[in-house]
Amino acid sequence: MNNILNLIILTVGGLAGGSFATCMVTRYVHHQSPWGRSACEHCHHQLTWWQLIPVVGVLIQRRRCAWCRQPISWQSTGSELACTGIILAEWWCTKLPPVHLIILVTWLAILTGEDAATQTVCPGMLWGGTLLLGTLTLPVVLTTVRLHLSFILLLLGPLLVLAWRRQLGSADVVLTGAVALLYGPRFACAVLFGAAGAALLAFLLRRSRHSLPFIPFLAGALLIGLAVLR
Ligand SMILES: [Zn+2]
Repeated sequence: MNNILNLIILTVGGLAGGSFATCMVTRYVHHQSPWGRSACEHCHHQLTWWQLIPVVGVLIQRRRCAWCRQPISWQSTGSELACTGIILAEWWCTKLPPVHLIILVTWLAILTGEDAATQTVCPGMLWGGTLLLGTLTLPVVLTTVRLHLSFILLLLGPLLVLAWRRQLGSADVVLTGAVALLYGPRFACAVLFGAAGAALLAFLLRRSRHSLPFIPFLAGALLIGLAVLR
């Protein structure tokens, strides 16, 4: 019974989280305010409550805006389904509390989308997610700080130097610090090495020599690390 309730919470939370993530990324990329009701991207008519229901709203409208009949992008629906799938898989592997997983995956989806599109992230979103997850797991964070503060500073020191030399984004350092506080510095080291290895491989395999956004690699390594190592 408990598992069924958890599955319902995870599915509803994952769909809502994916929808929220798409909305936040789209608004950030287009320099729009994060507040206010969503609107059709073609006719700018505000969406009503039933149009905002993840997946169902798009199906009812047969993937065309109810007012202007222009096609609705699959991007939001894809993000809703992907977030739900990742959250369910993480819960299956880690058994972390559903609320923790919903917030974590939604937060990572937003940071990943923003960094992939602009190579920057919204500072409010970065610190807001860190604060929210830190508050949710405050006893764990306080214990980690008490036991491993010097290890965390030792880990973040070289990263801060790299950020100062503009070889790493400051958001990458904050995210690594958040991972160290939430899940322990040893785990953060593993995530960092995994992400750096994957980023290096991606950099060598592609033809362009422009810099790569690092948060998608950190987020991927974090989720894989949680599923495999915890
Ligand atoms: Zn429209």
